[in-house]
Amino acid sequence: MQVLDSIQTLREALGRARRPLGLVPTMGYLHEGHLSLVRRARAESATAAVSIFVNPTQFGPQEDLTTYPRDLSRDLALLEKEGVDIVFAPSLEEIYPRGFDTWVHVDLLARRLEGEARPGHFRGVCTVVLKLFYLFRPERAYFGQKDAQQALVVQRMARDLNTGTEVVVCPTLREPDGLAMSSRNVYLDHHQRRAATVLYRSLCLAQEMLRRGERDADKIRTAMMALLQSEPLVSKVEYVSIADKETLKELEHIGGPALVSLAVRIGRTRLIDNVTLTP
Ligand code: AMP
Repeated sequence: MQVLDSIQTLREALGRARRPLGLVPTMGYLHEGHLSLVRRARAESATAAVSIFVNPTQFGPQEDLTTYPRDLSRDLALLEKEGVDIVFAPSLEEIYPRGFDTWVHVDLLARRLEGEARPGHFRGVCTVVLKLFYLFRPERAYFGQKDAQQALVVQRMARDLNTGTEVVVCPTLREPDGLAMSSRNVYLDHHQRRAATVLYRSLCLAQEMLRRGERDADKIRTAMMALLQSEPLVSKVEYVSIADKETLKELEHIGGPALVSLAVRIGRTRLIDNVTLTP
């Protein structure tokens, strides 16, 4: 496994790499969710590549950039075991040299949900992902359904800018009690960790109401909100959304595939989750 921290050495390694190449962009502190993407990339590519970069431009000023968990040596040991060929773990200066002044802006799709709750978030995501696509020229790049809007926005960017990379979206991996795996779960103490199952429970409630024939999106949102607010350790529900799966426009009536998603704070920790439901 080659571990590279400069664009120069990455270019040299890529010159020798067999194709097709599958890229998994991450912010590190890897868990089984990340590794499921890595395994898929490994299975479908001659060269499996992973990037590890905590991208500061996708964090807001009040967010957790400085406390975001990091453990590069543990990540590298995990990736070595998965048979990854190339790991790119650049410094901040390598990605954003002095005077950096170019940004990628996806418009409507990036304004909703996370875009509204985290202004500038997708500008940071798209800029770094486009740079990675431009450097690696991967035939495929792997993203998790856990960050459903991110996957959609990156897919749209890749299509609109003709990057030539197929964006593959992989299912969300969960803990046995349903909590979606996330690097941020380490922020939760024992009580908060138990309370955090309320996210998945509220998504299951939506699924169950739909299965029983409910098609009024507002009734489902209201029931989800009530369940979330019944958990005393939930400090804030940022949004509960039932939206068209492609456009992310909020639905009144659920007539086709819908993305049910939510952002909730447990103490100071912000968690997101989603499921796709089809009536
Ligand atoms: P992150 O390191 O949080 O930026 O995540 C890197 C990639 O892993 C993103 O495409 C995420 O959507 C994906 N990912 C994160 N958590 C999970 C999970 N529980 N299941 C599947 N993919 C995930």
